[in-house]
Amino acid sequence: MLKVCPLGSGSKGNCVYLQSDKAKILIDAGLSFAEIKRRLSDIDVRLYELDGVIITHEHNDHITGLSGFRGSGIPIFVHTFAAPIIGGKFQGLELKKISEQAFDFADLSITPFKIPHDAVYPLGYRISSKNKTLSVATDVGFAADNIIEAMKDSDCIVVEANHDESLLINGGYPKRLKERILGGRGHLSNASSAELLSKIITRRTSNLLLAHLSEENNLPELAFETVAKKLAENGFYERGDFKIGVLKQNERGSFFDV
Ligand SMILES: [Zn+2]
Ligand SMILES: [Zn+2]
Repeated sequence: MLKVCPLGSGSKGNCVYLQSDKAKILIDAGLSFAEIKRRLSDIDVRLYELDGVIITHEHNDHITGLSGFRGSGIPIFVHTFAAPIIGGKFQGLELKKISEQAFDFADLSITPFKIPHDAVYPLGYRISSKNKTLSVATDVGFAADNIIEAMKDSDCIVVEANHDESLLINGGYPKRLKERILGGRGHLSNASSAELLSKIITRRTSNLLLAHLSEENNLPELAFETVAKKLAENGFYERGDFKIGVLKQNERGSFFDV
């Protein structure tokens, strides 16, 4: 059994809850601690029940809620290079240093993989329990080959669809910020996300969750349509073959079986 509930996702904070038969974990803790607790209690999970948190990278929108995990003894899995930054920011965390080496945690097999993004060593994760697999990658500068390899053929895929390129280019962001987002260590546009998904989706895939949408430079409908259209061109039809969900910043998504 593998169940997932996106607690919130967007440029202002990211957190996904994942539950197997033997483990309850978070992927990132980028909402405020109070909000994480509130959204977990909404699905009947208490904070002390969590077995661990795995962190993608040290940007605030992925770690801010760790403030409430100090002294809790709950293991926080972070890349070795990000550990000094996260540990320096929040003292008293139970940090577990990881690399790109796959590891087992309770009944989960977790394979971290490197992602191009402007943090010290950003990771995505492929997580399996028994015969179910979820892959997650947000904050992706570009769809490098190792990402495609790592995420291919998953039951559930959580991937960034950050912005619509023309909304970003024509919008009010300062030039340097636009360049950062569009660059190879920035974020995936809807079109690039669709392109990536077209390379990793298989008949096994039942759920695609579009994550980390920009409130300024994207619209849920645009992200959805761009991805659905591209996948339909490749013979994968939304509803018929799989479902696409667009994650929200201010409310949790539904809790479902992977
Ligand atoms: Zn980031
Ligand atoms: Zn982010």
